[in-house]
Amino acid sequence: MAKPIILAIDDDPTVLSAVERDLRHKFGEQFRVVKAASGQAALEALRELKLRNEQVAVFVVDQRMPGMTGTEFLAQAIKLEPDARRVLLTAYADIDAAIRAINDLRLDHYLMKPWDPPEERLYPVIQDLLDAWLAAVRPAFDGIRIIGHRWSTASYQLKEFLARNQIPFQWLDIEADERARQLVDFAQADAAQLPLVLLPDGARLVRPSPVELADKVGLKTRAETPFYDLIIVGAGPAGLAAAVYAASEGLKTLIIEAQAPGGQAGQSSRIENYLGFPSGLSGADLTRRAVAQAQRFGVEILTPQEVVRTQLRDMYRVLQLGDGAEVSCQALLIATGVQYRKLNLPGIDPLTGAGVYYGAAITEALTTQGQDVYVVGGGNSAGQAALYLAQFARSVTLLVRGASLAESMSRYLADRIREAPNMSVRPNAAVVGVSGDKQLEAITIADSSNNAQQVVPAGGLFIFIGALPRTEWIADLVERDEHGFILSGPDLLGGGRRPRGWTADRDPFLLETSVPGIFVAGDVRHQSMKRIASAVGEGAMAVSFVHRYLAAR
Ligand SMILES: Cc1cc2nc3c(=O)[nH]c(=O)nc-3n(C[C@H](O)[C@H](O)[C@H](O)COP(=O)(O)OP(=O)(O)OC[C@H]3O[C@@H](n4cnc5c(N)ncnc54)[C@H](O)[C@@H]3O)c2cc1C
Repeated sequence: MAKPIILAIDDDPTVLSAVERDLRHKFGEQFRVVKAASGQAALEALRELKLRNEQVAVFVVDQRMPGMTGTEFLAQAIKLEPDARRVLLTAYADIDAAIRAINDLRLDHYLMKPWDPPEERLYPVIQDLLDAWLAAVRPAFDGIRIIGHRWSTASYQLKEFLARNQIPFQWLDIEADERARQLVDFAQADAAQLPLVLLPDGARLVRPSPVELADKVGLKTRAETPFYDLIIVGAGPAGLAAAVYAASEGLKTLIIEAQAPGGQAGQSSRIENYLGFPSGLSGADLTRRAVAQAQRFGVEILTPQEVVRTQLRDMYRVLQLGDGAEVSCQALLIATGVQYRKLNLPGIDPLTGAGVYYGAAITEALTTQGQDVYVVGGGNSAGQAALYLAQFARSVTLLVRGASLAESMSRYLADRIREAPNMSVRPNAAVVGVSGDKQLEAITIADSSNNAQQVVPAGGLFIFIGALPRTEWIADLVERDEHGFILSGPDLLGGGRRPRGWTADRDPFLLETSVPGIFVAGDVRHQSMKRIASAVGEGAMAVSFVHRYLAAR
């Protein structure tokens, strides 16, 4: 937390040094003393402080300055820092101006120069004002601030990226918040170029990509060494569990994650069926614990960093990353899970992030306050997200392709949805159209039981359909089923024959793919359970096969 500031302003260098010295001597431990030689310079300093989100507790300003008087300065400065206390340094002839300022500018005090001895004439006054300020003012948020348009895809992506990586930030909506407009102005940024990101060290990023932001906020995107015993692609539950077991058993382990640790589970608002947590836990909580556990055992995690290609070179598996870097390993675990299928509708792309969301979009739940929102999908993830949104939205309607929820959703979730007063389920329903200018305004729902279509106003559309595996980056190496899920173990032994190109003189291990030493775990595996516990179990199990593979080499 940065120290609050005492801003001293005087055009006379001797007086300015004296006031700075005295203030620093008495208050320097708790407050930072900043000085400026004119009102103009002080306003500039104040703008810079606002960009860093630092707070001024007291202005101590000389009345008689060329260019801008003390009271003229205060009139402008209190618009930027309304809570700061105000002290005017005056000569006898300035008393009228000081008295006017008490009425017009809520001047707290005027001090006649010189203020010697400071113990009697300066410190008690300032101490009293600082105490009052400390008691009344909440400390400013000390982290990253994002300024943008509420319905902007780029803003949504940054918010979602930081939230999923569990990095606190403050969101400032340029349309709703005067402070946001002020900060854009101070940063001399172009309002057309939002989002603007302000970092606590004063750095500013205009429309950064998540990777640029990751570098600035201390996430690690480059591997420490070129070679590992085990590389795990994907830091969902399967990848994180594997990492914990592998590193705790002495394997030098790297996880590479394209978006944020936690995977799909990280987006869950409440996981109620994971063993050992009878009252449930959030995906963010599970992720935080799992990441800490993995790091405690020495796992290296790169995020965000995508694996785009894999090659076999001699005994090694070589991974190419999105930024062109390469890392190699002896054994590789694919734990890349699944991703929601995009709805292919005209006009939907510009509305993605502006009312249309894939997956839970927890950061956007607050914006649905008082709105009628729709959730597409009948699986557990859709049900969970719908229940979460129902805490904010006026109404939540689940649009389900099938005849009822019973076909696809766990009973406990379906029961809770039925009981919720602001939730309903529309069976036989599919979204066939979306509309809106800058943001989603309406959707068209088709009913397959009677072929009728209806246009309804919609404050949000959250899509959870057709989870697809993400395996293109390894498609030319390992065998996959017709949907792209990866085959392993007995699934590869069609007709008792080993997979084509198989080089080992044994059958593939249970979670081993068609290439010896490349393993698969979790949702990305052919016919996996699509549950957190099973992903965790498979991740842990895969490590025992990695050991057997390494031992036999
Ligand atoms: C909102 C929601 C709620 C859910 N709630 C529950 C629940 O309550 N109980 C339950 O049992 N299950 C639940 N599930 C399902 C559960 O989360 C998944 O089954 C589980 O997360 C699968 O884990 P995984 O590790 O296999 O894959 P994922 O969780 O999908 O993780 C895969 C990771 O791999 C990364 N990745 C993909 N490709 C690459 C690449 N090329 N390079 C680098 N990284 C890559 C992804 O970014 C992702 O983070 C829920 C799912 C969702 C979406």
